[in-house]
Amino acid sequence: MLKSKKHRDTSKLHSMKKCPYCFTMLKLGAKKCDMCKKRVGAVNNAGFAEKGIDWKAYITAILAWTAFFVYVWWAFFRK
Ligand SMILES: [Zn+2]
Repeated sequence: MLKSKKHRDTSKLHSMKKCPYCFTMLKLGAKKCDMCKKRVGAVNNAGFAEKGIDWKAYITAILAWTAFFVYVWWAFFRK
């Protein structure tokens, strides 16, 4: 007899989550990826972990924008 090809019910809650960086399967409660050591958050609907907040990247972006505005002011608005 052939096995039924009916899809499994995917609407039930995920029991694992995937690292969004390296796609390793992680425990739902994991705060850090075992493989790439990056911070991960809660599981989303697609079964992926949310990316952890990268404060260093935020600060770098803010500093870059600040430097840009200072440069624009210095180059065009200085008297
Ligand atoms: Zn990873």
